[in-house]
Amino acid sequence: MKVLVLNCGSSSIKYKLLNMADSSTIASGAMEKIGLKGSFLQHQNKGQEKIKLEGEVLDHQVGIEYIIGVMTDPDIGCIKTLEEIDAVGHRVVHGGEEFKGSVIINDAVIAKMEECIDLAPLHNPPNLKGIYAVSALMPTKPQVGVFDTAFHQTMPKWSYMYGIPKSLYDKYKIRRYGFHGTSHSYVSRHACEFLGLDYNTTKVINCHLGNGSSICAIDGGKSVDTSMGFTPVEGLLMGTRAGDLDIGAVTYIMDKENVSPEAANTLFNKHSGLAGMSGVSSDLRDIEEQALNQGNEDAMLALTVFRSRIKKYIGAYIAEMGGCDVLTFTGGIGENSIIEREALCKNMAFLGIELDLEKNNIRAKDTLISSDNSRIKVCVIPTDEEYMIAEETMKLIK
Ligand code: ADP
Repeated sequence: MKVLVLNCGSSSIKYKLLNMADSSTIASGAMEKIGLKGSFLQHQNKGQEKIKLEGEVLDHQVGIEYIIGVMTDPDIGCIKTLEEIDAVGHRVVHGGEEFKGSVIINDAVIAKMEECIDLAPLHNPPNLKGIYAVSALMPTKPQVGVFDTAFHQTMPKWSYMYGIPKSLYDKYKIRRYGFHGTSHSYVSRHACEFLGLDYNTTKVINCHLGNGSSICAIDGGKSVDTSMGFTPVEGLLMGTRAGDLDIGAVTYIMDKENVSPEAANTLFNKHSGLAGMSGVSSDLRDIEEQALNQGNEDAMLALTVFRSRIKKYIGAYIAEMGGCDVLTFTGGIGENSIIEREALCKNMAFLGIELDLEKNNIRAKDTLISSDNSRIKVCVIPTDEEYMIAEETMKLIK
């Protein structure tokens, strides 16, 4: 079975075509700058060079049509006809309280997804555009929606309710939802398989550290707490997101700087975090270079805040779950930054976390990096959200 996985953002479409018979990737790519000047597509068939194609792409439907055109092109494509694709899996950011797992998409599901737009006005509309486009271009193909929030629907009430009047939850469903669920689910399960542990009885803390970062406490295969909340801005210090911030500071800034709710959203989501604190970059590699090699104090402070937040959450989740068996690192930073993993696990032996620095000297492959003495097993597990979406798609349409 061949599954096309689509991740539609406001101006981009990332895609991967997977052959589920042997879990291999047939092709992958990304269309960028949709609806803007200079749209382009980067496409790569497995084992071949990446190619770049330019052309004006006005909307998501044209973008998906273009991608399919490239995939079925006799010279540069990877399949003969569209018929070879058995199903399409979509990444959907917000499923609210409605979606507790992945679903086959039909008109009723689309209507419910549209109701969730209010909760994720920036993310859900482009996800839906991808669904509308596939419905128009391939009306007979089954489509499945896989939600970033669904895995966290197992969180107990005490971990998802905020300390605000209950009427606001009743009226607007203001609560913590959590995101990166597909990654937290995949990595925690895969880590247990890798270590030969029973997922249903193991306590895992997964650190998904990328441009967007979140930590999740998973007890017996169920998310019990996670650092992102009502929106992805809560929790860790991220590339451009502030993470945890006193509400008093938010209202004070809005008042003093005469900032509208929309501008405040932009400030705390796009101009804060590592980028805002350092004035250097949102990219951790640049921050590490400036902080550790160039003596840039602002970058060093940003890096220290980034690390200290992660440590606080790890400690909190060990306390919350009454222990932890496995600590996993994933995402661009978690998989690749040897320096950060070492810094994050330093002075944590009292909690049962001890790294083997030699084993830690790896990037992006399933590895046990803790020492033999470490009570908690520490692993690097590369995330594979597309594979997980394809697997969910296959399971449902079967
Ligand atoms: P996104 O959240 O956009 O999916 P990624 O998971 O791709 O982000 O992570 C991007 C982050 O990973 C960037 O901050 C980047 O600097 C960091 N990163 C990638 N490779 C390395 C590396 N070798 N060392 C340190 N950080 C890295």
